[in-house]
Amino acid sequence: MMQVLSTNSGATTKLLSSGKLIVLTGPSGVGKGTLMRLLLSRHPELNYSISATTRPPRPGEVDGKDYYFISRTKFQRLIEEDEFLEWAEFATNLYGTPRKPVIELLESGNSVLLEIELEGARQIRAKFPEVLSIFILPPNFNELEKRIRGRKKDSEAAISHRLKRAKEEIDSAYEFDIQIVNDDLETAVHEIEMAMFSQSELF
Ligand code: 5GP
Repeated sequence: MMQVLSTNSGATTKLLSSGKLIVLTGPSGVGKGTLMRLLLSRHPELNYSISATTRPPRPGEVDGKDYYFISRTKFQRLIEEDEFLEWAEFATNLYGTPRKPVIELLESGNSVLLEIELEGARQIRAKFPEVLSIFILPPNFNELEKRIRGRKKDSEAAISHRLKRAKEEIDSAYEFDIQIVNDDLETAVHEIEMAMFSQSELF
């Protein structure tokens, strides 16, 4: 079992016998969601942290399953109450990881998977130095643009925000423990599994 550090209201707490924390980051449209679902279906020991967001639900998204869809007022109150392990603004919306469930799972020796953007991943790395951080890259930028546009679930303004942010995120991929190119889904999942196996006795 490994040890991780977590900071709570500025104070540093050592969690003994903690589960493994894994952060998956990558630009919008890179296929993180699909990779996540495949990983979770193959590894029932992994727990997915459901984020809160001020973004409106897309067609088919379910509150409490895909995200907790909340108002900006509520999100800001939760920030003030220190209820987020990390949070960030992305393409004009706020996203955050609820603190309590993640800490409880880690403390009880369970593993947690976070699928979050760059700023949040940086906050997590600062609080949990032993996190396994994985960055998912597209085969090339044209392919990514095609995927973001092909999704047809976002407005043109949201699409251009996401494309600009995607470039910034890709430039920071080197900060992560591992970079994986999502060209072929099976290969990418296999590479993530190899990284998990090599870093922890839990998998
Ligand atoms: P989407 O709106 O496409 O669902 O997500 C936009 C971005 O927000 C994605 O890069 C996703 O990984 C990220 N995201 C989702 N939940 C969180 C979270 O709790 N915290 C942070 N920092 N980013 C998140």
